[in-house]
Amino acid sequence: MTATIIDGKAFAGTVREKVAGHVARLKEEHGITPGLAVVLVGEDPASQVYVRSKGKQTVEVGMNSYEHKLDADTSEADLLALIDQLNNDPAVHGILVQLPLPKHLNEDLVINSIDPAKDVDGFHISNVGLLGTGQKSMVPCTPLGCLMMLRDHHGSLSGMDAVVIGRSNIVGKPMAQLLLGDSCTVTIAHSRTKDLADVVRRADIVVAAVGRPEMVPGDWIKEGATVIDVGINRIDAPEKGEGKTRLVGDCHFDSCAERAGAITPVPGGVGPMTIACLLANTVTACCRANGLAEPE
Ligand code: NDP
Repeated sequence: MTATIIDGKAFAGTVREKVAGHVARLKEEHGITPGLAVVLVGEDPASQVYVRSKGKQTVEVGMNSYEHKLDADTSEADLLALIDQLNNDPAVHGILVQLPLPKHLNEDLVINSIDPAKDVDGFHISNVGLLGTGQKSMVPCTPLGCLMMLRDHHGSLSGMDAVVIGRSNIVGKPMAQLLLGDSCTVTIAHSRTKDLADVVRRADIVVAAVGRPEMVPGDWIKEGATVIDVGINRIDAPEKGEGKTRLVGDCHFDSCAERAGAITPVPGGVGPMTIACLLANTVTACCRANGLAEPE
């Protein structure tokens, strides 16, 4: 079998178009422009790239982007004061603190100081609890993007066996909650899982969020399963020239595509959907803040 390639880049373009439409309507009909504040502490190169990309796409869909770049040695008190200011700013509907934070800052404390209604990353403990109990919440962007692609491909996910490899708070756990919410039978695998290959072979849906290049080989994949590869790993690519690198996922793409029914590529799969969902969450937060109907 040769898998259908789930084109996250194209799908993300559709999501952004819908977001832009909602933003235009909010402006025209209500005089409101949604605003997203992104806080970056320090100079982590990958984080700088993400923040730039988020800011650019925020503006492209017609929203206001507020970037706050703080020095790596910013004190916790100063960071909390900025978050407090953003919490109280009516022009700011979404707040995102780019992770990871420098070591001297308490990540949990910082995230939990964001107003849950503006927590567009969905990492605040209130949103985690709301998601876990099936209540209306802010849903973390990466798992939300994965769910949207799965729903788009399958329609209903009810009764499917899903395996999520990885149990992080930002991807694995919320992904499992979302799949459970869509009535999948969910297994969460991690570094201590015994016989991972056997666990994965049972799955109709495999979501890999590990951070290990190409660790899932094709012969772990059940014939016809859907593979969502969240991993983003940079590896050496001597075939492209000396010192060159390329991006790969957590799944070995070619061999997995031989057996899967559908698969997301890396790059061009989950990655683009993450930022699109961040923009969608910001519009949702803006609508909720103003008592307006939310986009579906
Ligand atoms: P973490 O490092 O926080 O979590 C990795 C998880 O993988 C852990 O639960 C760990 O288990 C598990 N794991 C590690 N080794 C193995 C193994 N040999 N077998 C099974 N499980 C294992 O990573 P994140 O969740 O933050 O990210 C995962 C990947 O997704 C990364 O490549 C990251 O770059 C990518 N990512 C992509 C995004 C996107 O937009 N596309 C957004 C966010 C992340 P244990 O808990 O036991 O240690």
